[in-house]
Amino acid sequence: MTGEISAQNTVEIERRGLMLVLSSPSGAGKSTIARALLAQVKGFELSVSVTTRQRRASEIEGVHYHFKTQREFELMRDNDDLLEWAEVHGNFYGTPRAPVEKALAEGRDMLFDIDWQGAQQLREKMRGDVVSIFILPPSMKELLGRLTRRAEDTPEIIQTRLKNARFEIEQWVDYDYVVVNDQLDRAFSAVRSIVEAERLRRDRRPGLFDFVSKLLGEGPA
Ligand code: 5GP
Repeated sequence: MTGEISAQNTVEIERRGLMLVLSSPSGAGKSTIARALLAQVKGFELSVSVTTRQRRASEIEGVHYHFKTQREFELMRDNDDLLEWAEVHGNFYGTPRAPVEKALAEGRDMLFDIDWQGAQQLREKMRGDVVSIFILPPSMKELLGRLTRRAEDTPEIIQTRLKNARFEIEQWVDYDYVVVNDQLDRAFSAVRSIVEAERLRRDRRPGLFDFVSKLLGEGPA
């Protein structure tokens, strides 16, 4: 539909999909923002990672993660089926390659809830396609509160996650955007604005060439 005017009289310009990477320390609210984005912003698909972590009671296989044994994970990694992978809090996580390549080629956007190591690998491999946002908690006290309130992890796991949070926060400098999640609706609306602007980037919209040349071919010179 390059440069075509649809039945609703809106102009659709062909563009390449973007890869929106959201990272934050555990408990900063990234998953809530990701869920809101998927529910409220059209055209996003979540990249469902593979992990060797134990499934939490609230999680569904294939929706939140594809839960794998260590052996299955290693097989995928060694077959180059993962676009990136990393060890986080003692478990392995990775992004399946095929769904991402398909979505981008079809002009659909993908959302990645991955850590800084994964973000770094995606930037190296797919530079022009990646838009990265780091979500910061308003304070360390609030971060601990959120991790504890979630009550899905054992106290030992919460302690590991908190210990790792400081180091994860230090990775903020490598991201395109930084959003402080002090109030969820404000943080979400910042993320939504970033998406809207990034979707309009000239270099992501090959269809503009066709559209502008048609535009100039119309009407009075
Ligand atoms: P959780 O165990 O709380 O679901 O996730 C722990 C951390 O692993 C989070 O920071 C999450 O973003 C990250 N993570 C989840 N999936 C992936 C992935 O496929 N790759 C990488 N690098 N990190 C991931």
